[in-house]
Amino acid sequence: MSERFNGRVAVITGGSRGIGKAIAEQFASEKAKVVVLDVNEEALAACTEDFRSKGYEIFARKADVTSSIEVNEAVEEVISQYGHIDILVNNAGVIRDNLLYKMEDADWEMVMDVHLKGSFYMTRAVQAHMVKQKYGRIINISSTSALGNRGQVNYSAAKAGLQGFTKTLAIELGRYGITANSVAPGFIETDMTKATAERIGITFEQLIEASVSVIPVGRSGKPEDIANAVAFFADEKSSFISGQVLYVAGGPKN
Ligand code: NDP
Repeated sequence: MSERFNGRVAVITGGSRGIGKAIAEQFASEKAKVVVLDVNEEALAACTEDFRSKGYEIFARKADVTSSIEVNEAVEEVISQYGHIDILVNNAGVIRDNLLYKMEDADWEMVMDVHLKGSFYMTRAVQAHMVKQKYGRIINISSTSALGNRGQVNYSAAKAGLQGFTKTLAIELGRYGITANSVAPGFIETDMTKATAERIGITFEQLIEASVSVIPVGRSGKPEDIANAVAFFADEKSSFISGQVLYVAGGPKN
């Protein structure tokens, strides 16, 4: 088994299910101490049980990334538990899809808050510790929707925003041994895409089939596909790669 992340502490937001959980599991399987922050307490408990049954070290804590108070408290708790944070993955996300003319203020605000404000709060809190230790890896989860997607004016703006956020982090933090990169997934099979199928009134299988028909490699994405790309950026050896956006979509886009 690889020990690539031995001694590293990795914090993953929204890490109790879906893509975040796969990312957490990839780090844990390569010997990192994994911290999972999430609002979903049920998923947190299930994830903790699953990780412990596999013999992985996990520190799971409820934290809403849209609250700077909760974020700061959670980060301080991680520091008192482990003394350092080496990897941050801003993965927590929600969708509130609708066509522009039907979109409510709350749908816009919720999506901006979780993706953008949440990543800002988390990164601001964590960088203070990364700067001191002169080492860090920050990975922000964007989306192919950043290139535009019908019904996602809020989400596509937030995901494009995260790409600009990533590039600025790379510029400001590079001198402290910190890299910042973004992974932009295409269609990935998770509860989020299941909810999309429900919303548009088709089965998940139908949505998968429709998505696969335009994906060059001819299959849909799995959470592990994203975890693999995140681990690449998080690797200590990736120290000369910063400010990049890697589309992981089975082709140039989907
Ligand atoms: P899921 O909905 O399966 O998981 C997201 C997790 O984030 C959930 O546990 C959710 O909790 C949690 N979360 C939501 N809001 C907050 C918050 N305020 N604070 C902390 N945690 C929160 O999504 P995916 O795994 O599919 O998506 C993960 C990331 O990947 C997201 O950023 C998403 O936008 C992005 N992405 C996903 C794609 C896909 O096809 N699935 C494609 C491109 C990007 P709760 O269950 O309570 O909502």
